[in-house]
Amino acid sequence: MSFESLFAPDFKGRPYWWEAAEPASPSPGELPQRSDVVVVGGGYTGLSCALELARRGTSVTVLDADAIGFNASSRNGGLVNGGLKLALADMSGQLGAERADRLVREAIGTLPFIEDLIGREGIDCDFQRTGRFVCAYSRKHYDELAAKVDRIAELTGAPAYMVPPERQREEIGSDHYRGGQLVEAAAGLHPAKYVRGLAQAAERAGAMLFGKTRVTRLQRNGGRWQVETERGAIACEEVMIGTNAYTGPATPWLRRRVVPVASFLIATEPLPDALTRDLVPRGRVLADSRRVLSYFRLSPDGRRVLWGGRVGTAAMDPRESGRRLHAMMCRVWPQLQDVRITHSWTGNVAFTFDFIPHLGQHQGMHYALGCQGSGVAMQSWLGYQAARNMIGGPNEQSAFTGLPFPTIPLYDGRPWFLPGMLAWYKLRDHIDRLAG
Ligand SMILES: Cc1cc2nc3c(=O)[nH]c(=O)nc-3n(C[C@H](O)[C@H](O)[C@H](O)COP(=O)(O)OP(=O)(O)OC[C@H]3O[C@@H](n4cnc5c(N)ncnc54)[C@H](O)[C@@H]3O)c2cc1C
Repeated sequence: MSFESLFAPDFKGRPYWWEAAEPASPSPGELPQRSDVVVVGGGYTGLSCALELARRGTSVTVLDADAIGFNASSRNGGLVNGGLKLALADMSGQLGAERADRLVREAIGTLPFIEDLIGREGIDCDFQRTGRFVCAYSRKHYDELAAKVDRIAELTGAPAYMVPPERQREEIGSDHYRGGQLVEAAAGLHPAKYVRGLAQAAERAGAMLFGKTRVTRLQRNGGRWQVETERGAIACEEVMIGTNAYTGPATPWLRRRVVPVASFLIATEPLPDALTRDLVPRGRVLADSRRVLSYFRLSPDGRRVLWGGRVGTAAMDPRESGRRLHAMMCRVWPQLQDVRITHSWTGNVAFTFDFIPHLGQHQGMHYALGCQGSGVAMQSWLGYQAARNMIGGPNEQSAFTGLPFPTIPLYDGRPWFLPGMLAWYKLRDHIDRLAG
């Protein structure tokens, strides 16, 4: 296929999700002069925090530099992994066995948490417990996945099992992989509908939301905050930062602790039913086992393939990132060679130097961020927990609260080391694959 013919005539360099739920850019009214809490960032973290605060009677104002929900929260793949990535990392050396165990159990609880939240608030976002299939990129990866599968079943209380290569076509219409791991405790949703629903729920509860309002400076005077924005200032008792991969110069301490990494997605044109049934027979959400992974699924209406991965830097032209993702997709599914792309887009995910999400306070400023690309459930949970930390009360404090939050020398928020690191990870994936 020539470069031009890869793209449908109505191709758009913006998220497919926005067709159903484009982040709203209301012309904002006057900012309040004061609020109990100001939340910076209008994605899952900020909105979940605001929703909980407002439900408890706290006055809360959410400010986002773009439209509410405009960034990662309306651009992601909508795979809800329920904290599994974190739950399987061995953190006991780092944190001690007891804290690590609490963290793991909390991470696993993020899937039922978000499911309850969506149900309670009546958010129409195509949430479905699909289960997740992780495709083994090599035999070594298969063995590594197999070593963890019983632990996943035990932690989630739901089936998790290995699917050997000769049976993998039950889960994916491809022979590209070496079998894989099936985890029932996972889900898919429509991310832009979810963030829109969260915003509506927060507003219903009494939160005030302002898009197009960048926070430029945070100042603390005698225990109170002055939040300066491009549109005026707000005085408040507490400030909460939910800016994740978009953390900027207004919070330099946090910016030095979060590494933004661009991730990319495409959507294909609608496909025949028989083809989508062959590609993803059981409608699972999928990812592969590489360090620099691909993640993919059918759209909630089951008609398109959505394919994501890390193929460049944020500034890349959406047609070029689309071409690269299409090529990756066709290595797995050669039957999609002539299928065109209708949408191609990007967004930033937030890594931390210890690969753990962080929740806490720095000089009186609350924060919740850094979910290593798996934040649909986790960031919703951390936003809620940040609210609980502010309100206080009888609940047990989240195990994520106040972990040491590392950075590295010479890092100011611009990840100069990223190209080298990604190249090293890709090389290791390649070597694993060559070995079998
Ligand atoms: C392409 C992509 C695919 C992904 N796929 C998945 C997936 O399948 N499953 C999964 O679990 N996770 C996925 N993620 C991660 C997930 O989307 C994020 O973890 C989650 O959306 C983070 O929510 P958030 O509210 O913390 O951040 P965001 O939604 O990014 O919101 C942060 C907001 O802060 C605002 N902001 C920054 N600075 C300021 C300022 N000074 N003043 C005012 N506002 C400011 C920004 O404008 C931004 O809107 C993906 C992410 C991307 C980008």
